[in-house]
Amino acid sequence: MSDAASRLQEVKTRILEAERDAGRPAGSVTLVAVSKTFDIEHIEPVIAAGQRVFGENRVQEAQSKWPALKERHEDIELHLIGPLQSNKAKDAVALFDVIHTIDRDKIARAIKAEMEAQGRTPTLFIQVNTGGEPQKAGVLPEDADAFVKCCRDELGLAIEGLMCIPPADENPGLHFALLRKIAERNGLAGLSMGMSGDFDTAVAFGATHVRVGSAIFGTRDYPA
Ligand SMILES: *Cc1c(COP(=O)(O)O)cnc(C)c1O
Repeated sequence: MSDAASRLQEVKTRILEAERDAGRPAGSVTLVAVSKTFDIEHIEPVIAAGQRVFGENRVQEAQSKWPALKERHEDIELHLIGPLQSNKAKDAVALFDVIHTIDRDKIARAIKAEMEAQGRTPTLFIQVNTGGEPQKAGVLPEDADAFVKCCRDELGLAIEGLMCIPPADENPGLHFALLRKIAERNGLAGLSMGMSGDFDTAVAFGATHVRVGSAIFGTRDYPA
């Protein structure tokens, strides 16, 4: 078994334990294996180990790897977890099955237009900047309700849930709790939260999707 394949098993075991500890059914959390910065040779062993759900944070990087991988493995589900520019909406809708990072009107409209043009319906999450960090993407918590409403009512987009990336130096649980509260009051079932350092905590707070990179693939050689 490759290192990545054995680390994948460890992560899956930890998710099962966290589900059990939280009194949640086994399998209620989807593991998104974040393969950004890793090339096809590193990804193939993880696919061979049974993983089918992957995440990338850049459209262009994903385009260089995933069309070939998707051709070889038909049941791959690819998630976009990085910030989205409207000039990439076309490529994003063409390649990704799930988009976690809808965060402003212009992007929502661009994605909507591409979904209509291409006849594709990726699952959509809204990113919330729970820490209000200026350098981070995401709608501010106080604007989230209005933005969800706009996406649903004005644009007719089906929104599956919310996504957040807590500030690196804060207790992630506070941010996971906030995201969950915003989701609940908007009737949203999906919660994309938790990364290598905190996915067990995220499962305890109700995550439906955890996005785990380095705990599976190892340390990234260069920043994503
Ligand atoms: C890179 C990335 C992850 C995975 O981070 P790790 O700490 O390597 O698990 C999760 N979510 C987003 C948005 C990312 O960009």
